[in-house]
Amino acid sequence: MEILRFPDYDSFMKVLPDSLNRLIDGFSQFPGIGKKTAQRMAFYLLKSDRELAVNLAKSVLDVKDRINECPVCFNISEKAPCSICTDSKRDETLLCVVEDAIDVLVFEKTSEYNGKYHILGGVLSPLDGIGPDDLHVDSLLERLDGTKEVIIATNPTAEGETTALYLAKILKTYGVQVTRLAKGIPVGSDLEYADEATIISALEGRTTL
Ligand SMILES: [Zn+2]
Repeated sequence: MEILRFPDYDSFMKVLPDSLNRLIDGFSQFPGIGKKTAQRMAFYLLKSDRELAVNLAKSVLDVKDRINECPVCFNISEKAPCSICTDSKRDETLLCVVEDAIDVLVFEKTSEYNGKYHILGGVLSPLDGIGPDDLHVDSLLERLDGTKEVIIATNPTAEGETTALYLAKILKTYGVQVTRLAKGIPVGSDLEYADEATIISALEGRTTL
């Protein structure tokens, strides 16, 4: 049997039906998904039961049609306000400010945090033209009535730190306690492998035993 050899990937794509190519193109736009993985996913779907395709297509549309931003905290939600904002068991006096909705999941997974959230929708980045007006800062200031502490949980990147300092400066004028997540040595890692900036942060954020 003669083995078909394609000179390059584009030539291979040309022999595939258009609809399959469109699906591969679609999958390959996902972060971390290359052309080969996209191709494997598309072929898997092609071979699977029709039910899988129907459910997947429905889920994709539901996510686009049903999920909106919570008008209070800007978390993603099918309800307005979201279930966290309306949860009366949560501590109303504690507000955790994060960059993106996905960061809320990180805190919720720990089951340790019982306050509310505010999603900024990004960080200050003058080089990319992102200023305070592009983030949910005004809506954060409007929520401070009854808030005792604001935890600033932006990422420890240059932009995240700039944003944290900017917010802290404004928030302090409102008379609320402003805290920042501690930075240091990751749990389970070795001091030997930590970089200088991490060691300095860990020293500064040391706690009494
Ligand atoms: Zn909310």
